[in-house]
Amino acid sequence: MVSVGLVMLQGARHAHIATLESASEELGVDLETIELRTPLDLQTSELDAIIFPGGESTTMRLTGSNDLNNLLPSLFEWLRTNEKTPVLATCAGAILLAQPNDSGTPLVNATVNRNGYGSQADSFQAMLEVPTLGEPYPGVFIRAPRFDSVGEGAQAIAIHKQEVVGIRQENRLAVTFHPELSGDLRFHTWLLKLAQGDDV
Ligand code: GLN
Repeated sequence: MVSVGLVMLQGARHAHIATLESASEELGVDLETIELRTPLDLQTSELDAIIFPGGESTTMRLTGSNDLNNLLPSLFEWLRTNEKTPVLATCAGAILLAQPNDSGTPLVNATVNRNGYGSQADSFQAMLEVPTLGEPYPGVFIRAPRFDSVGEGAQAIAIHKQEVVGIRQENRLAVTFHPELSGDLRFHTWLLKLAQGDDV
C-alpha cells in the first residue's frame, strides 16, 4: 500500500487523483489517496509521498495561511522534517516549494519567475526531454513559471528548448508543467516508485 497526500488548497487536484489511480493500477500497487486540508491531516496520516498541485500560488498562499486554514506553514515544516519523503510539485506547487516565503529554507534550491512565459494566452504544449523517462514527455504549460536559477543540490530532470523546466532535489520533483493533464502517467509512476523506495 502506498499512501499519497494531496495538497487540497486550490487548483488542479482531481486530475492528479485520477492520474495517480491509473498509474497505481498500471504498476499493480495498492493506493490510498489522502486529501490534505488541515495541519491535523499531516499529523494523523502515514504519508509515503506528497503531491503539490498547480493552480495559482497567490491564492494558495491565501487559502493555506489564514486563521481558518493554516495548512501551508505546517506543510512546509512537515517537509523540512520529512526531507526524504518523495514529492511531486507541479507549476504553482513548484513555486511554493522554491519560494515558501516563510522564515525557513526553500524546499528545493531554485528561484522561479511566477508567470515567466507571459499571460494565460501564452500557455502552450511541447515535447520535453526527460532523460530518466526515456522517450520525450508531453508538457502542458499553463501560465507557467520559469526557473530563474537552479542551485546546488537540485538537478535538471526536464528540458524544453535547452531550458530547465523540471528539477529534482533528493526525492522532490518540481516541474513547471502539468503532468496530470497530459494523459501520460510516467511522472506519477515515477513518484509511486520513489514512494516504494525504488531507486529511480
Ligand atoms: N503562474 C501561476 C502562479 O503564479 C501558476 C500556474 C499554474 O500552476 N498553472 O501561481
